[in-house]
Amino acid sequence: MQQFASDNCAGICPEALQALLAAEAGDAPGYGEDEWTRRVSDRLRELFETDCDVYFVFNGTAANSLALAALCQSYHSVICHELAHVETDECGGPEFFSNGSKLLTARGEGGKLTPEAVREVISRRSDIHFPRPRVVTLTQATEVGTVYRPAEVAAVAELAHAHGLRVHMDGARFCNAVAALGVAPADITWRAGVDVLCFGGTKMGLPVGEAVVFFDRRLSEDFAWRCKQAGQLASKMRFLSAPWLGMLEGGAWLRHAAHANAMAQRLAAGLAGIPGARLLFPVEANGVFVALPDSVQQGLRARGWRFYTFIAAGGARLMCAWDTHPESVDALLADLRELSS
Ligand SMILES: *Cc1c(COP(=O)(O)O)cnc(C)c1O
Repeated sequence: MQQFASDNCAGICPEALQALLAAEAGDAPGYGEDEWTRRVSDRLRELFETDCDVYFVFNGTAANSLALAALCQSYHSVICHELAHVETDECGGPEFFSNGSKLLTARGEGGKLTPEAVREVISRRSDIHFPRPRVVTLTQATEVGTVYRPAEVAAVAELAHAHGLRVHMDGARFCNAVAALGVAPADITWRAGVDVLCFGGTKMGLPVGEAVVFFDRRLSEDFAWRCKQAGQLASKMRFLSAPWLGMLEGGAWLRHAAHANAMAQRLAAGLAGIPGARLLFPVEANGVFVALPDSVQQGLRARGWRFYTFIAAGGARLMCAWDTHPESVDALLADLRELSS
């Protein structure tokens, strides 16, 4: 049965797989000197309508950790939401790769940082005994399935830049955010003040891999060395980069993301009619967070459904992916209805 535990339960989407197989034909130079990596980097520059600098790494933890490390000295700090993946799910990777830059958490409704919350952290201390804030990181779409509007990103970024901070975006679900907002990727990134984006590939339907996109190229000066030292420079890079071609050429990345978002809407609409089920956050991307009675949660697990409850304090997280079938959504809803009646 199809699960809603995570969007990385899904397989490889056909467009990515085709592109991977096409890259298998013949020899090619290693370490990113190949034609596929060059072409994908060019496609990303077209997509973002700017001359950005692009790197491919293994996973999101590496992408975030190395990107943040590139923006910080060890005595700096990074402001993030208290639910941010960098804080809760990366095993101290950002601190480790930055040699100790401290994460400072802030609160905010719906998993989003606000300028007020960021200002409070920035102005909390300015003395030499406290790690100096240098980066704000935003997650788009957020850990609880909401999205920042371009003006919301711009407001945080404007404040950050005014105080000499850089802006990083954890875009593990960037595709879902773009599909939800219907904006140009540039409008929610560099035009709104984002300096570096970790563009998620895995949850989008790739076999593996994320792109680190530097809009301010000065920040990526030594990034290639940082990736190599961290064990993130793939020797057969083309197998990391080529699947991106399949996603970007022809717009599969956005189509699949829109589908995942639509499945989340279908699920949310069904939940609205189920007594005892209460949505915890607005459903804006591909995640649905719902409070369910314990007995219903147990019943779902007994019927084989898997889901996490640690993110939303006991609420179930139900993620939709590029391959989520409407029938799977309906099967989950049918079980929920039976268990709730
Ligand atoms: C999945 C995810 C990541 C990346 O996680 P990895 O398991 O390291 O690939 C990063 N940020 C967010 C918000 C995520 O959901």
